Amino acid sequence: MQSISNGITVGKPAPEQEIIILGTGPAGLAAAVYAARAERKPLVLAGPEPGGQVALTYTIENYPGFPDGIQGADLYALLQKQAERFGAIVEYSSASSVDLKSTPFRITSESGEFRTRALIVATGASPRLLNIPGEIEFRGKGVSYCATCDGAFFRGKQVMVVGGGDSALEEGLFLTRFASQVTIVHRRNELRAGRILRDRAEQNPKIRFLLETVVEEIRGPDSVKSVAARNVSSGKTDILPADGVFVFIGHDPNTALFRGILDMDEKGYVRVDDRMRTSVPGVFAAGEAADPTFRQVATSAGMGVAAAISAERWLAEQH
Ligand code: NAP
Repeated sequence: MQSISNGITVGKPAPEQEIIILGTGPAGLAAAVYAARAERKPLVLAGPEPGGQVALTYTIENYPGFPDGIQGADLYALLQKQAERFGAIVEYSSASSVDLKSTPFRITSESGEFRTRALIVATGASPRLLNIPGEIEFRGKGVSYCATCDGAFFRGKQVMVVGGGDSALEEGLFLTRFASQVTIVHRRNELRAGRILRDRAEQNPKIRFLLETVVEEIRGPDSVKSVAARNVSSGKTDILPADGVFVFIGHDPNTALFRGILDMDEKGYVRVDDRMRTSVPGVFAAGEAADPTFRQVATSAGMGVAAAISAERWLAEQH
């Protein structure tokens, strides 16, 4: 786990850390910038999806300071570079278990066991599933949760986008670069998305809306060819042709590792106070793992900064 040359640790984590950060989304990396600048040499475990949802987003138009928008992958790369510049170490592994009963806390990952005096949980959130027949079977064969990753496979094809929030519309608009038609399927007759995206989607000639409709089955045989869609007011089910189904129906926090260990709300968001403190002293949480309300890139980064400042103060008080 460690490479030591003449007694000097080179670019590798020490066995006992002052601060470990779980996650490399905007919350984790913003925390890493601050913790590194406080000379705590944070170790950041990248998790199963390095960069989190940001890295999978094509363009982010509402992150302050980028008037022309910034590509998600570029923002991730810049945040990581900034954190590393001040001494953060990013390790490409995921925590598989945690023991927070006493300090130093113990974090087990594929690359071994780490001990740390303070922990920042920034494990983010993952796309919610529809849980309907065909969804798992055709994942990667027409079913996708990431337009940036998979959109180009649908050049000249018809795709369905499930969801009525900002993500569904934003990703649906992105898919119009490739697809011949994008059908946004929403379960209610009113979209949840904000005005700007709604206007843009409504004005796009490739987008059509199928409201008050739920997708009940995704059908093949070998890859997605159609969906069974039911109109919730008439109760009528139609089989509609589709080459792809993109699902954007929200996210669930990645906090299973902390169930029964940290206080959480009924949806699994870690409860934090105004200083990002969790129910365990020395453990802080930031970003979408702890934010059922705002879930924006900028708010996640802000929570990460707050968590790092609190962790720094907590460490200072322990002496
Ligand atoms: P969201 O706002 O929670 O919307 C989820 C959508 O999926 C809702 O329309 C919901 O329907 C629908 N849905 C949920 N479960 C469903 C199910 N089982 N079957 C069918 N439909 C289902 O999630 P989001 O769009 O991912 O956005 C999350 C947050 O990120 C929001 O705060 C959003 O503003 C923000 N965001 C902002 C931007 C931007 O500003 N450019 C872009 C993307 C995301 P109901 O409406 O009926 O509940």
